Amino acid sequence: MQTSSTRFSPSTHRLVITIDGPAGAGKSTVAQCVARRLGYTYLDTGALYRAVAWNVKQAAIDILDVNQMNSLMASMNVHIMVQESLMRVWVNEEDVTSQLRDPEIGTLASSVATIPAIREWLLPIQQDFGRQGGIVAEGRDMGTRVFPFAEAKFFLDADVAIRAKRRYQDNVLAGHGMEQAAVQEEIIARDIRDRSRTIAPLYPASDAVVIDSSVLTVDEVVATILERISAIQ
Ligand code: C5P
Repeated sequence: MQTSSTRFSPSTHRLVITIDGPAGAGKSTVAQCVARRLGYTYLDTGALYRAVAWNVKQAAIDILDVNQMNSLMASMNVHIMVQESLMRVWVNEEDVTSQLRDPEIGTLASSVATIPAIREWLLPIQQDFGRQGGIVAEGRDMGTRVFPFAEAKFFLDADVAIRAKRRYQDNVLAGHGMEQAAVQEEIIARDIRDRSRTIAPLYPASDAVVIDSSVLTVDEVVATILERISAIQ
């Protein structure tokens, strides 16, 4: 898929833009394109949950053990650096960025994300990024919980089979071999966990624009978002 080529004149008012949605809906590609086009910071909040999952795996911790999880949070140092529209993540001085897209880490991240103490801990870290505006924040609860006052909210969805196909293709490119059917099963399980958890479940904010990307190209989704943004500025 290509990046957007729609003409857009950024205004001086720097917005907080949120893009939520389930796994494989195309949020990352779209959010990165929108951030690049506007000269905004791209914040991938899934990477934070993945960073915690990475640390849990390294330390061989049982996520149901409250004491172990508390000491992990007390000793864990997460550092994020945004370079153009890409984000790098360090955990305790180690650059873990290239390890975070492992499907196993994604599955563990969605379990870690059901723990209220973890969500509370990550909340101010995410909100700090939005203080100055000029941010495109991607995740599951950006418009509902992390940035409820964001000026432009989007919820990107797509048919589950299409999302599974896209995620499978991403995995192949990243060298993670997993059958497409298994990817789809994993996505369905993740959707259920993300939508049904008690804290900050995945759903569109009441003021979000819902975009079904099943039959849209990245260009078309980005153009829809940029049009909407120029209309509110
Ligand atoms: O978006 P990504 O696949 O990297 O996210 C990994 C997991 O982190 C998601 O399945 C979800 O459970 C969790 N997550 C979340 N809230 C966010 C971002 C991600 O619960 N804002």
